[in-house]
Amino acid sequence: MTSLLLDHIGLLVTADPSAGDGPVGTLSDAALVVNDGKVAWIGPRASAPDADHWVDAAGGCVLPGFVDSHSHIVFGGGRSAEFAARMAGQRYTAGGIRTTVAATRAAPDADLEARARALADEALAQGTTALEIKSGYGLSVADEARCLRVAGGLTSETTYLGAHIVPPEYSERPDDYVALVAGEMLDACAPHARWADVFCERGAFDSDQARAILVAARDRGLGLRVHANQLGPGPGVRLAAELGAASADHCTYLSDGDVAALADSGTVATLLPGAEFSTRSPYPDARRLLDAGATVALATDCNPGTSFTSSMPFMIALAVREMRMTCEEAVLAATAGGAAALRREDVGRLGVGTRADAVVLAAPSYVHLAYRPGVPLVRAVLRGGEVVAGRYHRTP
Ligand SMILES: [Zn+2]
Repeated sequence: MTSLLLDHIGLLVTADPSAGDGPVGTLSDAALVVNDGKVAWIGPRASAPDADHWVDAAGGCVLPGFVDSHSHIVFGGGRSAEFAARMAGQRYTAGGIRTTVAATRAAPDADLEARARALADEALAQGTTALEIKSGYGLSVADEARCLRVAGGLTSETTYLGAHIVPPEYSERPDDYVALVAGEMLDACAPHARWADVFCERGAFDSDQARAILVAARDRGLGLRVHANQLGPGPGVRLAAELGAASADHCTYLSDGDVAALADSGTVATLLPGAEFSTRSPYPDARRLLDAGATVALATDCNPGTSFTSSMPFMIALAVREMRMTCEEAVLAATAGGAAALRREDVGRLGVGTRADAVVLAAPSYVHLAYRPGVPLVRAVLRGGEVVAGRYHRTP
């Protein structure tokens, strides 16, 4: 068991308002000690204890590793042509998913694994130390289970999304597909998944279909998540709240009742501004959710069709610039909010006993994440106390 001292932290963000100053719980001129992968000590650097290894934060800001609670990085093919067409004026509909389903089914395991691992590494280099990964581009019993096995090689936060869209071979008999997703496919996938998710939207699954699948998944012991109210008003958010889902994701078109249901139920509102950016669509009203008392998370929705970015710093910049979130609210949503959306206590903040997941910025403040959009500010990334990405100074 070796210890590590992360020293010379100009500004430490704990993401726990009770553990420091201001809404993100900051400490100035701080240090942090890691023991056995967990935070063992936090305090002023002048009184930091010795450790086996030393990492110099060089006066930069240190934050908890980002928690990206929504991604779709197991897929084949690409959709850059669709993106270009959309930017030339075509409207996004849920049907584009079928393109990726065909490419995913055709891809060998090794290709799916290599692509997903490259994207997970790309996310890690940008500070994402906890990543949820969904299936949803297989849409057959064998291919959904295959995609979840690939996801499970990269994260423990795996989500079964057999109900992403009705695949072409079931287009004339969607209820048969719902029965498959809630039956044989669930049986094959549940051992590889922590969560189940349904795309509850016009053009995907309606309220009754979504409920049947979610209830079956819950009965199998899976936690619930719902893609809800992305493309228009709909029943998804209410259903998520009613069923006690951990998260309702997208939340772009909400009624007052939807907002109240999120605030009252504790179901996290996960906002995915990369999707609105990449589809040139109106952003969700984060201000309204926060003012109502809902817990908000930010995530990338990284997928080849509608948000092909793995960058949590970019989500923070969008949230601040386009969604009227303060810099502090955006940082909390990208860390503690994401952890809440995954019902995790051990990540998304830095305190004694949490996993030692941290981002070291080449900048004096977390504000720079929004203030300097598109700039690679991440100097180093620690996951479980190991320096896993970036450039850093370290002495034995
Ligand atoms: Zn999604």
